[in-house]
Amino acid sequence: MMPIDSVDKEKSKRYFDTYTDRATVVPISKFKIDEEPQKPKVIRNLILDELLLDGNAKQNLATFCQTDLDENIHILMDKCIDKNMIDKDEYPASAEIETRCVNMIADLWNSPVSSDTIGCSTTGSSEAAMLGGLALKWRWREQRKKQGKSTDRPNIITGPVQVCWHKFALYFDVEIREIPMEEGRLLSTPEEILKRVDENTIGVIPTLGVTFTLQYEDVQAISDALDQYEKETGIDIPIHVDAASGGFVAPFLQPDFVWDFRLQRVKSINASGHKYGLAPLGCGWIVWREKKDLHPDLIFNVNYLGGNMPTFSLNFSRPGGQIIAQYYNFLRHGRAGYRAIHQVCVDHGIYIAQEMKKLGIFDILYDGKGGLPGAAWILKKDAKVGFNLYDLSERMRSRGWQIASYSLPGNASHMVVQRILIRHGFSHDMAELVVDDLKRSIDHFAKHPMVSGLTDEEGSTFYH
Ligand SMILES: *Cc1c(COP(=O)(O)O)cnc(C)c1O
Repeated sequence: MMPIDSVDKEKSKRYFDTYTDRATVVPISKFKIDEEPQKPKVIRNLILDELLLDGNAKQNLATFCQTDLDENIHILMDKCIDKNMIDKDEYPASAEIETRCVNMIADLWNSPVSSDTIGCSTTGSSEAAMLGGLALKWRWREQRKKQGKSTDRPNIITGPVQVCWHKFALYFDVEIREIPMEEGRLLSTPEEILKRVDENTIGVIPTLGVTFTLQYEDVQAISDALDQYEKETGIDIPIHVDAASGGFVAPFLQPDFVWDFRLQRVKSINASGHKYGLAPLGCGWIVWREKKDLHPDLIFNVNYLGGNMPTFSLNFSRPGGQIIAQYYNFLRHGRAGYRAIHQVCVDHGIYIAQEMKKLGIFDILYDGKGGLPGAAWILKKDAKVGFNLYDLSERMRSRGWQIASYSLPGNASHMVVQRILIRHGFSHDMAELVVDDLKRSIDHFAKHPMVSGLTDEEGSTFYH
């Protein structure tokens, strides 16, 4: 008699199922490319299964980036997956759409002649910041050379900035003079900026939607102060606004807030299309006030359909779908759509801030009003609770929520902040769920206090 298990083995060899396929019963390749190919669907499943361990993007309240993308965006992205943005000759229609987006954004930011400015798409605000910073450096260097003065010690002045400006300073050899946050002053002020500017200042970088607090810096007051400084010293210092998030919020929700090209001194602005521009990941923008504000030496001219296409970018090859999707959003939502979408998000942020305040143990750092959609709070100094904010973030992860907690930079590093960001795709129901889960977590800690809470190093979560 044949042993039963060998009969079964013969049969099972002929039987196909993803989870009996060889690729799924041996360890997956991690360090080397195997010699033998595998069945594509089996591998796809294996990879998708592994990706289940990623957080759920919609519950990621730590990111500014878009996580809600409609069916048409999926279709457009799919159709454009093989198009390279740099091949202006081969894909002239995509190139044209990029130009239209630049013109529309220049108009949104009140450029004096929006159809005759210069700007480009980038992979995000970080690349745009490098380009903006380089343009400032070139302008300054040329002026200094004309005056026969030294060009070895350029500096930029910033408030509490996103890490991309530290990268710019390091990579392109510019000193960054970041105004340190103080407990009582979380944004830059004209006074603090004036303390730091000098003849080597290539530009001042206010942020519209500060990463740490979601508030807008007062670009107009900064601009006025620099006007006064020029009157007194003859030194003309341009402003580049990092409007990564605010550039696609303020024009819709706070149209009277003056921060953009309405101010003469604002020479360039960057924003992330993939944040509140509602485009998929990989889309940023930079626009100069006027053509003359971008030094011609930085522009490479590529031959394009017999004409000349000026380009300025760090990357060469780049996907085109994001830009097409950005254009889709501009047409599909219109200004009214952007206004409606972002206003709803602001309202959810205000609601969450109010609910947090009611708990009595938090001081509200940002109440959701006047800046980006979201809220931020710190634990009251005298709050007698058995947890810190890192513990609370950690506990919220057990329900899938990703909520950033971090200590503030500069001289406010003793302050630990918890922050939530609200984006398109978030409902009042979700806001209630978050608040309920926060309350439940706080109740849990009341019953089971943490013996020793997480420290800055262990707890700090990404704040982008
Ligand atoms: C997100 C952000 C950046 C970086 O933008 P990416 O599009 O992620 O490269 C720069 N500055 C500010 C203020 C930001 O919020």
